[in-house]
Amino acid sequence: MLVVMKAQATREEIQAVCDHIEALGYRAHPLPGAQRTAIGITGNQGEVDRGNLEEMAGVAEVIRVSKPYKLVSRDVKEEDTVIRFAGTDATIGGAKVAMIAGPCSVESREQAFTIAEQVALAGAQFFRGGAYKPRTSPYAFQGLGEEALKIMAEIRERMGLRIVTEAIDHEALELVAEYADVIQIGARNMQNFSLLKAAGRKRKPVLLKRGLAATLDEFLMAAEYIMSEGNYEVILCERGVRTFADHTRNTLDLSIVPAVQRLSHLPILVDPSHGTGQRNKVLPMARGAIAVGADGLIVEVHHQPDKALSDGMQSILPEQFAQLMDECSQIAAVLHRRVPRGIHAEENAAVAVSAR
Ligand code: PEP
Ligand code: MN
Repeated sequence: MLVVMKAQATREEIQAVCDHIEALGYRAHPLPGAQRTAIGITGNQGEVDRGNLEEMAGVAEVIRVSKPYKLVSRDVKEEDTVIRFAGTDATIGGAKVAMIAGPCSVESREQAFTIAEQVALAGAQFFRGGAYKPRTSPYAFQGLGEEALKIMAEIRERMGLRIVTEAIDHEALELVAEYADVIQIGARNMQNFSLLKAAGRKRKPVLLKRGLAATLDEFLMAAEYIMSEGNYEVILCERGVRTFADHTRNTLDLSIVPAVQRLSHLPILVDPSHGTGQRNKVLPMARGAIAVGADGLIVEVHHQPDKALSDGMQSILPEQFAQLMDECSQIAAVLHRRVPRGIHAEENAAVAVSAR
């Protein structure tokens, strides 16, 4: 059920409707839009009695939502969700294209700083780096944990990059929510419902990766779990799915970008690194992702990929990332979008040109 408020409804009227919904034992989710505020109702098993709601001041209409996902749906919020980061002009969603880059794992302070400097120079506004790694083998590098989070917090302080890192479980979530700007939920955890709910209780944006074999509906329902707990800042991310094809690590499903955008107001990013697993395919698929309208990319970059402790095969070199930024900026311009170039705007152009 959805309560659509009139365009001129006052803050008090919106609050009164929320209070009424909560008094009925349900949860109210006010989602302000450009034209009007809509209030999603969750927690109801069956039909909500709409009688009193329709009569309340400021209410335009009460609509039944037939889709299983409510809060992620464009029915609730027509315009794109734009996530903002205090103290910077960095955003995710909307007209600007967000670029997140960095190593698969933070391996040392020196490694992380070297890569962060390079991606900042190329214009990225966000730095990625794994502190807790979901590895197939228990004997593989598992991440530096809190030490990595501290290194990345220092990178934010020094270089102004916003930090994106994965929380693999409840324990990691507490620390990641404390240190990072964006909490990543990995593909393997896309249907870890208790972790999704816990992330939904945090007040930091959540980057949700598509599960290894998740359908569009399952993906959107996972986002709904996070939003149902009151965290409306969810970023979706396509990272490839399992198919019979074996020429790439995963099959990057770029068609999910327009499919998501039709149904949901949430931003959708593409990860061409995990999506292909191969360095030589990252740039072409990154260009393709921007061309199909992705709201940004998350890319693995390493200055010594042969020595990387995880995902070296799919990590691109810093100069390739500069080239990616340059080419994606040009493709974005065709779609009347812009790739903002971080804090080093001047140097970026020179880096991108020399990388060709
Ligand atoms: C990662 O981003 O390094 C990662 C493990 O991603 P995914 O969950 O998509 O495999
Ligand atoms: Mn990785």
